Amino acid sequence: MQKILVVERIDENAIKGLKEDFLVDVRYDLKKEDLYEIIKDYDGLIIRSITKVNKELLNRATNLKIIGRAGNGVDNIDIEECSKRGVIVCNTPTSNTISACELTIAMILNLNRNVVLANKDLKNGNFRRNLFVGNEVYKKTLGIIGLGRIGSLVATRMQAFGMEIIAYDPYIKDEKFDNLNVKKVESLNDLLKVADIVTLHTPKTKETLNMISFDEFKIMKNDSIIINVARGGIIDEKALLKSLKEEKIKGAGLDVFEVEPCLNNPLFEYDNVLVTPHMGASTKEAQIRVGQNVCTQVRCGLLGFEVNNILNKELLMKNKLQKANIIKNYDLNLKNEGALK
Ligand code: NAD
Repeated sequence: MQKILVVERIDENAIKGLKEDFLVDVRYDLKKEDLYEIIKDYDGLIIRSITKVNKELLNRATNLKIIGRAGNGVDNIDIEECSKRGVIVCNTPTSNTISACELTIAMILNLNRNVVLANKDLKNGNFRRNLFVGNEVYKKTLGIIGLGRIGSLVATRMQAFGMEIIAYDPYIKDEKFDNLNVKKVESLNDLLKVADIVTLHTPKTKETLNMISFDEFKIMKNDSIIINVARGGIIDEKALLKSLKEEKIKGAGLDVFEVEPCLNNPLFEYDNVLVTPHMGASTKEAQIRVGQNVCTQVRCGLLGFEVNNILNKELLMKNKLQKANIIKNYDLNLKNEGALK
């Protein structure tokens, strides 16, 4: 029987389903060295965002055929190295989009109305509404960077608040902007110049790393707010700190950080920085969806059926690397989809 190792928490019912066809070990307490020690025994690995799948791990994972990332971002996985070894990488990009969108909106509204600060103040025995005079978002400009799944959901929901929505995303068709009734801006700077609230929804790539740094904060409107529920490192934290010190921007909402877990960060000293511990996907609904989706894909991969969301199909094919039942699965996919582009 093939073996699957689950090293980060996913929905228990989804794991139960896997146990019908596989030997499943659930080891949420594993240290890196222990993982390196035992990984050779497993055909499938299920992770979230913490486990680093790098060359070191993969060199030891001689039986591994598929890695399921419960969630979206895959910057913790060296996809190229996986592909060289014939290991499928799949993720669940659509399962938590609504949750991430709703946390973004919670941050936008909280920062504009000082809800968290006022709550703390009142519970400390004060009743001082004058300290917490906020701003409406109505008729303000929301600048969305990355109009993908989450960015689009934020756009349509914030239109209901009467915000003007603009977006910068050079990789999507104009048609999408039109369909969403979102104004396209041609450059990042054009967005930063006019947005009252800037919200980031891009993946973390070489191009987006430190995308918002010293120069960009200079361009942003005074009194603007920036939100990052995407990935740590897209905002340069040193630059953000400087702009807060200089009271250049009004505040920031951060769910993600350059280094995670993030415990001691000078940004935490600012009342106008609202922080959460990378919990964009942490709703019951999303957890169930993510768990079921990742288990279904790993199950399909190991049993030789079609995997919905393979991230490295083209690389695997290019490398002509084959691992037993997995290649059968690719052939099936190829037949289903026609030639690969
Ligand atoms: P997506 O792939 O659907 O959308 C990303 C968009 O960014 C795409 O439209 C792409 O064209 C655009 N983009 C890429 N590079 C860009 C650039 N340089 N400039 C402008 N736009 C660019 O992704 P998604 O599902 O909407 O997820 C967005 C982000 O949110 C990802 O980083 C994901 O990892 C993150 N996320 C975080 C949480 C959380 O817990 N905080 C949960 C889910 C997703």
